[in-house]
Amino acid sequence: MKFYPLTVREVIDETVQARSFRLRPDGAHAHLFGYKPGQFLTFRIPQGDGHIERCYSLSSAPSSDAELKVTVKRVRDGFGSNWFNDVPKPGDAIEVAPPSGRFVLRSRDRQPVLFAGGSGITPVISLIKQALHETALAPRLFYANTDTDQIIFRREIDDLCARFPGRLDCHHHIDAQSGLADAGRIREFVGGRLDCDFFVCGPAPFMDLTEDVLSGLGVGDRHVFIERFTMPEDGDGDAGAEVPAAGAGAVESFRATLDGAEHEVPYLAGQTLLRSMLSRGLDPVYSCEDAHCGSCMVIRRSGEVAMRKSTVLSKRDKERGYILLCQAVPQSDDVWVDCDA
Ligand SMILES: Cc1cc2nc3c(=O)[nH]c(=O)nc-3n(C[C@H](O)[C@H](O)[C@H](O)COP(=O)(O)OP(=O)(O)OC[C@H]3O[C@@H](n4cnc5c(N)ncnc54)[C@H](O)[C@@H]3O)c2cc1C
Repeated sequence: MKFYPLTVREVIDETVQARSFRLRPDGAHAHLFGYKPGQFLTFRIPQGDGHIERCYSLSSAPSSDAELKVTVKRVRDGFGSNWFNDVPKPGDAIEVAPPSGRFVLRSRDRQPVLFAGGSGITPVISLIKQALHETALAPRLFYANTDTDQIIFRREIDDLCARFPGRLDCHHHIDAQSGLADAGRIREFVGGRLDCDFFVCGPAPFMDLTEDVLSGLGVGDRHVFIERFTMPEDGDGDAGAEVPAAGAGAVESFRATLDGAEHEVPYLAGQTLLRSMLSRGLDPVYSCEDAHCGSCMVIRRSGEVAMRKSTVLSKRDKERGYILLCQAVPQSDDVWVDCDA
């Protein structure tokens, strides 16, 4: 992944715990920072003599915001989120990798229903702005926060509701007033309108609850899109696990479906499926190569793979057959991955 300096143009206090940053690439690299609403940027944050990398979703949308904007909420004892909220000021440069991610609008026909919890609103508001400005869709938002003080983009959402009457429907759920959102409230919000595309981003329990309700209502997996703001402790405890190498000489190639075409990809011994695909000249979506951004999630249609890490994958993702191209090593000679699913 290559990083480029972006200049901080403006720092905006959104709530006591969250700040937005308007960012601008220099002219030579501006073309690398085109993006789809819902995508994220990866930042290099200085730490000691080195740096750590963290992903932050774009809360801007190209059709409504002249500049890139990300919004970062403090995480207790978190390094990167507190650095963002304490350090950068206008004029500073930050190292950033170009946009990536698959949490994007898929259809201009199916109405989007969006569930956001806390800072999970960032990619969601980007999708809402796109839906309102670029399509005739009428997005519906369920936005959960612990308290009214914590509502990020409250004014922007109110303004959008006023500007697009009858198009944007926003339901604020405030834990301090109504208790934690539960299955009944989510079901009530969906209200039987199931032929929609559902987008979910927020704390893990909120996303699990919403996914469970949607699944219980019979919404198909291919109409539910999840963005996980994975943090180190959210994984399944397999970070850095040793995986068996593919048996020497056993796996010579694997099959990959990408952009509607089928490819027989020579397997590079000891490498991941992603590295093998890249060396074949294929271009699947990927970003962090460290199992936390989820960009390279694909469906395994057949064969066995082992994963070095699978931090970003939930139990449900694994049950559905998702793997991470950047971590997967083939264990059998009949591996078929579907990058279009
Ligand atoms: C695709 C994507 C998009 C994202 N978009 C956004 C966004 O738009 N806005 C946003 O605010 N966030 C977003 N995130 C989350 C963000 O990337 C960071 O994960 C988040 O800010 C926390 O990072 P941190 O460095 O502050 O915390 P970290 O330092 O990583 O710590 C996180 C938590 O883990 C605990 N912890 C750390 N190390 C240990 C340890 N060794 N043992 C036990 N506990 C430990 C910390 O106490 C803390 O509670 C996104 C994540 C992804 C993957």
